Amino acid sequence: MTNELIATEDIFRFSQYYSSQGKSLCWYWKGCIASDGYGRFWFQGFSEKSHRMAYRIANGKINPGSHVLHTCDNPSCVNPDHLFLGSNKDNVADRVMKGRCAKGEDIGSAQLINWEVIQINRLFMQKLYSTKQIAYFFSVSVEIIQRIRNGKTFSHVTGLKYKKHLRAYNKHNTKPCTAALSALNITH
Ligand SMILES: [Zn+2]
Repeated sequence: MTNELIATEDIFRFSQYYSSQGKSLCWYWKGCIASDGYGRFWFQGFSEKSHRMAYRIANGKINPGSHVLHTCDNPSCVNPDHLFLGSNKDNVADRVMKGRCAKGEDIGSAQLINWEVIQINRLFMQKLYSTKQIAYFFSVSVEIIQRIRNGKTFSHVTGLKYKKHLRAYNKHNTKPCTAALSALNITH
């Protein structure tokens, strides 16, 4: 297996989002969790699933076409001892077995659940991601994220107030995001 070069800085940043609980227990991802239940980690300008990132850090490169699967039933778990490589067929079989086969996982703007809004709010506070990036993580439109960010919707969950947050947004909507987003063909 080919090892890939992952910067120490990225490995350190990744380590901030879980607590090592030993080999047998699950290490739950504390960062962004998307609507599919998998964590997301911003790496080299792209959004990578956190369990895939955990596998890459522990074992090296993932060959194209391979899936990183869990031996436990926790999509957000990043314990390398609970991860193994499988084919696309393995992945489908695994999902069926665990009862996670496609069951309308598409989330419409109106169907964001409070739990997801809490995750979104946490990302606002981290000030690492732009609105567009957060919208991309959660597969919703930028407008929806802006409305949450401005306290126009879900303020009962986030406690955000319009003016105060708008200032924070302008200040932290920084340029590095633009390069990352143009790599994803998203205009800023
Ligand atoms: Zn686990």
